[in-house]
Formats: sequence, C-alpha cells, structure tokens
Amino acid sequence: MEMTLEQRIALVRENIERAAGGRPVTLVGAAKTKPADLVARAVRAGLTAIGENYVQEFREKSAAGAYDGAQVHIIGHLQQNKVKYVAGQVDLIQSVDSAPLLAAIARRAASLGRVQDVLLEVNIGGEAGKSGCAPQALEGLLETAAGLDGVHVRGLMAIPPAEDARAYFAPMAHLFVDIAAKKYDNVSMDFLSMGMSDDYEDAIRQGANMVRVGSFIFGPRNYI
Ligand SMILES: *Cc1c(COP(=O)(O)O)cnc(C)c1O
Repeated sequence: MEMTLEQRIALVRENIERAAGGRPVTLVGAAKTKPADLVARAVRAGLTAIGENYVQEFREKSAAGAYDGAQVHIIGHLQQNKVKYVAGQVDLIQSVDSAPLLAAIARRAASLGRVQDVLLEVNIGGEAGKSGCAPQALEGLLETAAGLDGVHVRGLMAIPPAEDARAYFAPMAHLFVDIAAKKYDNVSMDFLSMGMSDDYEDAIRQGANMVRVGSFIFGPRNYI
C-alpha cells in the first residue's frame, strides 16, 4: 500500500531519530517543483523547515501561504540578481559559495535592518561546473564574513558527488569540526547540512545535524 505524505514524514523522522541517537537534527523538506498545497500539507503534518531551489518558486509559494508556520531555506544555487528577493526574507540561505554573493546578501539584508543567516556551500567532491566553493577557499570566505554586518555564518552545506556521496560525509565533518575550533568572528558552526533522500541516515551517523529530504517525502519529481 502506498504511504501518505504524513506517513512518509513520520517515517523519515523515526529514521532520523534512530540515526542521531538523541542528537537534534533539523529536517528540511526539499520542495522544488512541488505545488503550494502539497507544501502546506507537509507543514501541517509537522515539517518545520522547507527548502527551495528556485527563487521564482519561493515567491509563488510564499504568496500562496504555503510556508506559514515553517522556516524557509534557500538550498539551490543563488544568482546575485535574485538576492533582493530572498535576503532578509528567508530563515537560512544554505548555498553561499563566493565573496561577492556573501557581500550582496549582507548589503540587502542590512538595507532591511536584518541579519541573514547563511551556510557556506562546499564543493567537497571538487566537481567541475558544480556550485560550492573549494575547501581551500573557505578560510577566505570566513574572513570576508567576519567583516559583514548583514550576514551571520551558521555552518556548512554540501551536495557530494551523486555516484559516491557517502565517501564525502566524513571529510565534510572534519572540515566542520576544524572550522568550529578556529573560532572566526561572526561565524558559529551550528549546522552541518548534508544528506538527501538516499543517504540522510548515513550523513547523520557521520555528523550531519541538518538533512534535506525531497523525493522521499514529496514523491518523485516530474522534471529537473
Ligand atoms: C533536490 C535537492 C535535495 C533533495 O534531494 P532528494 O534526493 O530528492 O531528497 C536536497 N538538497 C538540494 C540542494 C536539492 O536540490
């Protein structure tokens, strides 16, 4: 028998709890391509954070009230010309990977009198053409963040290579622990966001405390 959306959310929560062994883990429902009514239903079922990849979808579903009662995270690559639509208006931007993007977000948030929480996205697999900064570029980005009033770095995010994702969880966790120990200004290493539908339990066992689960909760996507 096919599971309902509510049952799938409950199952993911059970799996998360078992993998985390009592550590708190934030479940982010990755809702790209999914309609506002389905997202609203997931929020009613207790999903406390929704992740969106596309600014246009965020704006449409936000206007429809889909996220009311939940946090909204931007998890997809963010173009600088779209920053004005999200900075200072979402709870977390998980996909910041360059100093110019960080500065643009800080400027926009500050103009609204807000501080935008962000994660720095790391291209941990070193894949050409993929978003995320190189691990060696992280230090420079963290130093940039220290001088910006409109942003607060809350942790790291990664989308490892699909064919071998599990191999990259431990290296990401090391990076996360190393940076936390260095204590940069304006940086608190609160969240390590990694793990998706196929591997979130493994990611948690390796140290993730934020997972982004899409297709298992919302069903397969028809496009993208
Ligand atoms: C789509 C997406 C997810 C969720 O992927 P699933 O395999 O459907 O769980 C997580 N993170 C990002 C950045 C995504 O774009």
